[in-house]
Amino acid sequence: MTALHLRPDLEEIPSYRQGKPPVARSGPSYKLSSNESPFGPLPSVVERVRDAVARANLYPNMAAPELVAALARRHEVAPARIALGAGSVEVISQMMRAVASPGDEVLFAWRSFEAYPMLAVAAGARPVTVPLDASFRHNLPALAAAVTDRTRAVLVCNPNNPTGTTVTHQAFTEFMQAVPANVLVVLDAAYTEFDSAADAPRETELLAQYPNLAVARTFSKAYGLAGMRVGYAVAPIAVAEAMSKVAVPFGVTAMAQAAALASLEAASELAERVHIVMTERDRVAGALRAAGWTVPQTAANFVWVASGERTPQVVSALEEAGVSARTFDGEGVRITTGTPAANDVVIAALTTLGA
Ligand SMILES: *Cc1c(COP(=O)(O)O)cnc(C)c1O
Repeated sequence: MTALHLRPDLEEIPSYRQGKPPVARSGPSYKLSSNESPFGPLPSVVERVRDAVARANLYPNMAAPELVAALARRHEVAPARIALGAGSVEVISQMMRAVASPGDEVLFAWRSFEAYPMLAVAAGARPVTVPLDASFRHNLPALAAAVTDRTRAVLVCNPNNPTGTTVTHQAFTEFMQAVPANVLVVLDAAYTEFDSAADAPRETELLAQYPNLAVARTFSKAYGLAGMRVGYAVAPIAVAEAMSKVAVPFGVTAMAQAAALASLEAASELAERVHIVMTERDRVAGALRAAGWTVPQTAANFVWVASGERTPQVVSALEEAGVSARTFDGEGVRITTGTPAANDVVIAALTTLGA
């Protein structure tokens, strides 16, 4: 039988791994593998989604004018700079497809978000990586130095998934100055709401200053809407226009638009939830360090346990306790901050195991 023609470059990349499902067991189990919020949607959000469902026979308004206006106000930019997508992974995918042609390069640190290599290859580009430093942080000077005349985009994940580490405003500013102005820099700020550092990159200031900077944000993490699929970029106008040409029409449903708008209106309630998650995250990180584990300072809704060769034992100890986390063989385990009960189970399991 003759094999069907497929793109040969897709053989190089694995499919995206969804977070491991909850451990199947008789006792309680905790899914801490996808950085989801432990809180269900706010009643005000559910109500607005329900209203939108009643009009599900109609196509959504692709321009999403209310949501775009609210986001433009929030980021102090022209509405034309806001680009929406079905999650910020889709938004980043649009950006890659908007800037890269076959043979071009997309540059990012490694280890970082697992979707980046796939998004680059799917856009026809070649992923190029620069290792994190010994403290699991972005090496921004090395990243800037790796830019070539084929580089079309540089992705900086801050806080970084899966290590939770951050770059400072100063370091990111120096990086922006070093990157040529015709190369798009994407600051993937999926976890930025969990970063309370005084020296965190100041998005509004940076967006005003650097015309080749885009920031990608999502409603999936701090806003707890992972199942609704809505994210956005604040991008240079030309990039936002190009993104609209590669986007799948009607990708952001009316339900997702309604949920996002209602969430922006409930910002203070959501900020309280974020605060609870941050306090719990710091409690878990502190307890695991006290038990001897290497856990870098984290500014996201997860901790990175740099367990290296002991990773299989960590995974078994967690699974025996009913916890599924995200495993990186030979490197470590990323554990989402869950409910206090789930976090207690994580602490007990890894304290008993011992580093
Ligand atoms: C979760 C995540 C996103 C966004 O995911 P969506 O659900 O598609 O919005 C983007 N970047 C990183 C690094 C993430 O971890």
